Amino acid sequence: MPGVFIDVKVSDDAKGDTELAQKLTDACPVDIFAATDAGTEVVEENLDECILCGLCVEAAPPGAVEVEKLYDGTSLKR
Ligand code: SF4
Repeated sequence: MPGVFIDVKVSDDAKGDTELAQKLTDACPVDIFAATDAGTEVVEENLDECILCGLCVEAAPPGAVEVEKLYDGTSLKR
């Protein structure tokens, strides 16, 4: 089930990067990312556990990851 409060987007360019997938998996304290052979998978059932720490955004290249706060229309990105 997708998140009610949070959505996390990984850009098409970055999605297939398995090294980044591992970085995101290591960075997120609430397991929103899973590293697979195909790259990053967003674990939808964990989305609303996001604590908005920003570690995923910092771990990724600019433009690669965006954390959207669906409740106020703003987002964490760089
Ligand atoms: S902001 Fe923090 S808790 Fe939310 S997805 Fe990124 S690393 Fe995980």
